Amino acid sequence: MTGPLSQKLFATAKGFIPGGVNSPVRAFRNVGGEPFFVRRAKGSRIEDVDGKTYIDYIGSWGPNILGHAPTVVTNTIHEVAKDGVSFGIPNPFEVEMARTITEWVPSVEMVRMCSSGTEATMSAIRLARGFTKRDYIVKFDGCYHGHSDSLLVAAGSGALTHGEPDSAGVPAAFAEKTIVLPYNDPEALEKVFAEQGDRIAAIIVESYPANAGLIFPRPGYLDLLSSITKKHGALLIFDEVMTGFRLGKAGVQGIENLTPDLSCFGKVIGGGLPVGAFGGRADVMSMLAPIGPVYQAGTLSGNPLAMAAGLAQLKELGKVSGFPRLEELGAYFEKGLRSIMDAKGIPYRFNRTGSMFCLFFTDREIVNVNDVMKQDLELFKKFFWGCLDKGIYIAPSPYETGFLSLAHTEADLDDTLGVFDEVLAKI
Ligand code: PMP
Repeated sequence: MTGPLSQKLFATAKGFIPGGVNSPVRAFRNVGGEPFFVRRAKGSRIEDVDGKTYIDYIGSWGPNILGHAPTVVTNTIHEVAKDGVSFGIPNPFEVEMARTITEWVPSVEMVRMCSSGTEATMSAIRLARGFTKRDYIVKFDGCYHGHSDSLLVAAGSGALTHGEPDSAGVPAAFAEKTIVLPYNDPEALEKVFAEQGDRIAAIIVESYPANAGLIFPRPGYLDLLSSITKKHGALLIFDEVMTGFRLGKAGVQGIENLTPDLSCFGKVIGGGLPVGAFGGRADVMSMLAPIGPVYQAGTLSGNPLAMAAGLAQLKELGKVSGFPRLEELGAYFEKGLRSIMDAKGIPYRFNRTGSMFCLFFTDREIVNVNDVMKQDLELFKKFFWGCLDKGIYIAPSPYETGFLSLAHTEADLDDTLGVFDEVLAKI
């Protein structure tokens, strides 16, 4: 149960905003309840409008890698805002951002900024189609790449929890150009490329799928994506909107030592402000307007506040050795969680890499979205509400990934594990 002020706000919101929310997963429908409303957040904590505080494991769905409202970011926003909040004319922060991204991610030779992950993937797909002069794209069941028409087919995240993966309003003719394959299935991939390889513009894949739980590629699978696209003249697009600048300087491609043709980013690079980016091979990126025939634009693209906030966050991450510390926190959390789950004898899987994690209430091996759907969803709901009641905020859906931040401490994690222990004992 949420507090009276949250309840009142939600009742009012429903009169003016569809479902009372501006993004579906926020409605808590998947856990059968109502959302709380946030008054403020700092570090690892969120405070709701009724004055209750929570240790937060979502971090605005990924951007807040330093925690909420880190001083380096908020000070930067204050300073930069004094000189103007939007120009629609090039500004120096855009150049520094592009230089930083290309330095941190070697596969990215050129980059274009936009304002959301959806725009980044949508534009990367258009660019791949324009570059290859082919129409078809391959995506994987359960991978979420935002809500553009071509990509809202068998998507994860909010679309998955809708129980209605293919949205109404997406013309069948668009969806027809999107070939959906099961993830981690080399045979299915090889078959499609053998039959239709010459009309596929690109494969788009979440570098580690994290919108249907957190799923890892089987050994060699990502290499296969790379080699098969090369062989057939298609492009490989890595969607690192969630993993980019979170799992290391070069994201999953750095960890897996891969060189995708194009990559998409968002979240962490905006420091909590609206942002997206896509980049990659210079010959492909040079197809973009104004120097090439593929049109893409944005009134707020390269916005000075978003660029400066993102740069401040990235600089801080580099300065404080953020990635090793996040791995240390992640490992600590994983050890504690496994010991609780093992002691309780509850069937579970726990997938984690660095600061991203997902607990599944199943003992099935998690290979693709089908395995994720087979978990005990009723148990998840009870777990979610039990935790929320005790001041621990995990994702209000069993299909989402959790995030740690540099503001979390071992003491936070101990408190959280204590609550997990208590809640699991009761359900
Ligand atoms: N790609 C991935 C992998 C994502 O996780 C998301 C959002 N969670 C998106 C794309 C879309 O980003 P946005 O919500 O900023 O449009």
